Amino acid sequence: MNKKHILSPEEILAQKTYIEQMRRENDAYAAQTGKRRGAFVMTFGCQQNEADSEKIAGMAKSMGYSLVTDPECADLIMVNTCAIREHAEQKALSIIVKYKHIKAKNPDLVIGVCGCMVAQEHRKNDIKFRYPYVDFVFGTASLHRFPQLLCQKLEKGKRLYCPEETEYTVAEDLPIHRESDYRAWVSIMYGCNNFCSYCIVPYVRGRERSREMHKIVEEVQGLVRDGYKDITLLGQNVNSYAKDSGFPYDFADLLRELDKIEGDYVLRFMTSHPKDADRKLIDVMADSGHIAHQFHLPMQSGSDRILSLMNRKYDTAKYLDIVDYMRKKMPDVTLTSDIIVGFPGETEEDFEGTMRMLETVRFDMLYSFIYSPRKGTPAAEMEQVPQAVKSQRFERLLELQGRIGKEKNDLLVGKTLRVLCDGVSKNNSELYSGRTEGNKIAFFEGDVEDAGKFVNITVKRADAFALYGEKI
Ligand code: SF4
Repeated sequence: MNKKHILSPEEILAQKTYIEQMRRENDAYAAQTGKRRGAFVMTFGCQQNEADSEKIAGMAKSMGYSLVTDPECADLIMVNTCAIREHAEQKALSIIVKYKHIKAKNPDLVIGVCGCMVAQEHRKNDIKFRYPYVDFVFGTASLHRFPQLLCQKLEKGKRLYCPEETEYTVAEDLPIHRESDYRAWVSIMYGCNNFCSYCIVPYVRGRERSREMHKIVEEVQGLVRDGYKDITLLGQNVNSYAKDSGFPYDFADLLRELDKIEGDYVLRFMTSHPKDADRKLIDVMADSGHIAHQFHLPMQSGSDRILSLMNRKYDTAKYLDIVDYMRKKMPDVTLTSDIIVGFPGETEEDFEGTMRMLETVRFDMLYSFIYSPRKGTPAAEMEQVPQAVKSQRFERLLELQGRIGKEKNDLLVGKTLRVLCDGVSKNNSELYSGRTEGNKIAFFEGDVEDAGKFVNITVKRADAFALYGEKI
């Protein structure tokens, strides 16, 4: 068993001294001015980044900042970036430019940029030379050192570029400020060893490293005690949990252990990888009392030739075998996936393979993307598919999945489903919205007190993306 990737309690304690130092300064400032300094956290990207941002917000609060929702009211702005596609990086960079103008009005404003984008040397240099108003930068491996870097920046008054950590670690017991008081993210592992040829994640989040089971069980017990209703376990590839550390258990064992925690809650997990999704896992899900019958299993392509070029380490036969077993054990399972259209070298025949798999598997929902070359990944060096061809295929795929999604949701009309209510719908203030156990969006006429609670609805109609029902 190797736990050297777990950050020492001394290192965490060291960060706590910086937190206390900042707290004293911010308390003094508040006493003098009658106003507490504000911190604003802007997040781009995936659920893992959202979970990291909850730690950044938690550390900022512990340092005596009040969390603000308007960057104009902030004294500290943290931008947590994503590198999964060019578009995500451009979005972050254009927002950072906007903060330049806020800094012009408030020269004491401190701007920090962190996350996957700046874990790449070329982007860190971009910030260094083209964004002089950014005060400090650190990558994903240095999240736990945020208090130290902020202190050093304020003490030295110089811009700070945190050299990328040599060791990617697991930092336990960092302060967390959760966005919701009934839905929670719980990271169980970090990093990825798979090196899919199109993906930047292994280069910006390091090698796989897992938290110890007892730490995760403690955290989930605490959440259930505090009334959390929907808990999602996070990792780039949760199915290989603990394999990196030689711990005497695996992901299915972790789920079985968590399922013993009593309470009215739903347990979910993402993201899975078909090469590691095994029957033991599916059996534990099928026999459990809390694990949602919902599975997100990225397929990426329906062509074995492309799957091999992607270095995905499974083929369509393996994928179908998992799906068949899952549907045998959990006939009501909601199955979703990720698809990349226009991977380098993709022929019309390869694409037709993807379309056939969609017809065969019939996913409830798809997250589909047009391939975006990532600097430093093998696929970026391959011969690219013309943009027009990629877009045309993307439209055809959306049309097919739209039809399948509607047909799948229509099967739920007339059924009674349990929904965790998220309050008034953002798109229609007449309606409330929430998520079913299958993680499908549901709209219904609700009441204020429903927010954060489970309600039962009868589905009256459906479209490809949502269910519409009446609360019972
Ligand atoms: S499994 Fe592949 S796609 Fe997923 S994070 Fe790892 S390298 Fe990226």
